[in-house]
Amino acid sequence: MSEQSTYTIQCPQCQAELQVALYDSINVLEAPALRDELMANQLNAAHCPHCDFSFRVDKQLLYNDPERRVMIYWFPGHEDAYNQNREDFLRMMDALGDALPEDFDPPVVHLVFTRTELVERIFLLEADLNERIIEYIKYMMYSRNLEKMDPRRKAILFNAEDSTEDALCFVTQDLETMQFDGMLEFDRSAYEGLLEMFDDEEKTAHLMALFPGPHISARTMLIQDENQRSDEESTS
Ligand SMILES: [Zn+2]
Repeated sequence: MSEQSTYTIQCPQCQAELQVALYDSINVLEAPALRDELMANQLNAAHCPHCDFSFRVDKQLLYNDPERRVMIYWFPGHEDAYNQNREDFLRMMDALGDALPEDFDPPVVHLVFTRTELVERIFLLEADLNERIIEYIKYMMYSRNLEKMDPRRKAILFNAEDSTEDALCFVTQDLETMQFDGMLEFDRSAYEGLLEMFDDEEKTAHLMALFPGPHISARTMLIQDENQRSDEESTS
């Protein structure tokens, strides 16, 4: 079921107080139109009758695709709040686990922090690709070219639309201008190779250690590694 609640928010333009109905969760099997709204950046849109301003409200949202057994939780927030949001998410999942019957096998709930990540993850899972291996590929793309591909300034995103049978396509996004400014390709056969390579207990453990989750992102991982290194350097 898709769930909507009424929220009191402030118009970002004229500061008027508004009552708006916003989705807390969407079930895209029952309501495929909500998936399309989300992808078109129209879900949880609000309009202010006082100043005629239209805007989107970014709030926590559970995306549920029961047909594919896919659940994605979008926890919007600034990068500085990622650690706190991750803790809150894990607490929520614990509480949910406790509330479910013991013999119930719930699907894994993916955690994303931005709308871009949410849309990318939906495309990824719909294309039946493994999110950890895709992030591993991005990790290699960053690591091989750290000068040009600084994770603080560039996001690498999977691009479903331009991917083909032979190649997985990625775009780079400049995070200052938010412009897409480059294209990267990765052989699908090499992806299949990675999938096979990681289908081994020891190698899977390595991949899990690299991306333990619940937020799986090469970019965030590289930035946090770098922060940790500079913390260590400044304390030693
Ligand atoms: Zn207004």
